[in-house]
Amino acid sequence: MAILVFIEQKGGLVRTVAREALGEAVRLAATLGGPVVGVCAAAADPGLAALGEAGASELLLATHASFGHYEPAGYARAVVAAVEKVKPAVVLFSASAMGRDLAPRVAARLGVGLAADCTGLAVEGGRLIASRPVYAGKAVQRVAFTGAPALVSLRPKVFAPAPAQNGGAPAVTPLAIEHDPAAARARVLEVRTGSAGKVDLTEAEIIVSGGRGLKGPENFAMIEALAAALGATVGASRAVVDAGWRPHGDQVGQTGKTVSPKLYVAVAISGAIQHLAGMSSSRCIVAINKDPDAPIFKVADFGVVGDAFEVVPALTEAVKALNARG
Ligand SMILES: Cc1cc2nc3c(=O)[nH]c(=O)nc-3n(C[C@H](O)[C@H](O)[C@H](O)COP(=O)(O)OP(=O)(O)OC[C@H]3O[C@@H](n4cnc5c(N)ncnc54)[C@H](O)[C@@H]3O)c2cc1C
Repeated sequence: MAILVFIEQKGGLVRTVAREALGEAVRLAATLGGPVVGVCAAAADPGLAALGEAGASELLLATHASFGHYEPAGYARAVVAAVEKVKPAVVLFSASAMGRDLAPRVAARLGVGLAADCTGLAVEGGRLIASRPVYAGKAVQRVAFTGAPALVSLRPKVFAPAPAQNGGAPAVTPLAIEHDPAAARARVLEVRTGSAGKVDLTEAEIIVSGGRGLKGPENFAMIEALAAALGATVGASRAVVDAGWRPHGDQVGQTGKTVSPKLYVAVAISGAIQHLAGMSSSRCIVAINKDPDAPIFKVADFGVVGDAFEVVPALTEAVKALNARG
């Protein structure tokens, strides 16, 4: 049976999160068998035919004039139409902002369950088992599926992406759907992007986050400087966001973004459970805090007990010196 992957794209480009889902689909297909089929909703053909290189043998494309932005009901219809056509065993989404909205809509329309924000997939005795962190990352839940298809959303940055596209062409099949945007109960009117050129936190390989211990918004210049030296994106704790020092889009945690970068540097962040919920699956965590008993040190791989105002500039200089050596 096929594995269906929702191909999230932006401006005609496949997003890395979709590539991660494709990569996982290919790995699953090696055990479960069956082809990997992509489904994409777009205003016009975004020219994703090269997805064959990434493992998709077929691409179902639903086009509608209203699909320039994410259109919740229309996109859900497209995925449901693809499910009805392909009858897959598994449907993979990313647990990106779009996937977190779309996957439950599809699950509700199909009347099946969804394992959301998963960090591991395995096939045991021919059955798909999904692992997902619960209780703010304190436990891992293993989920088996009773109905079909099994719907799964994958936490961004946890799964290895399929190789970049540079050729190969799956069959692109138009997918007919009935969609009347005027009748939709929710519509995206406008998309406001954050700072130009800033890599989104959920896609960043390296994040440097600052907390309330930085004492004021002006001191984030120090965090920005370290982030620039490391090629990182800046994040923040909720305390900082609530104080109006940083925009909400920078917030990491239970009520902010869930991130899994290769490197997460937490500066003057205590490590409250709600913050850990958003970053504890990062591959390497470095904490800088003047309190040796700060809970952040319990999840840190490397910890510096010290004053951020001394440690961060010194670290920035050290990184710059390393960069200069090439
Ligand atoms: C329902 C709910 C949802 C929440 N969601 C989130 C969320 O999504 N994200 C989130 O982050 N929080 C969230 N919170 C808030 C969370 O509980 C904490 O209040 C918050 O994370 C604290 O932020 P902080 O670590 O920056 O500040 P604090 O807890 O005040 O910690 C500041 C830290 O800085 C250190 N420090 C001070 N000065 C220095 C210095 N000079 N050098 C080095 N270290 C220094 C201190 O030792 C301390 O550990 C949520 C809370 C609730 C109730």
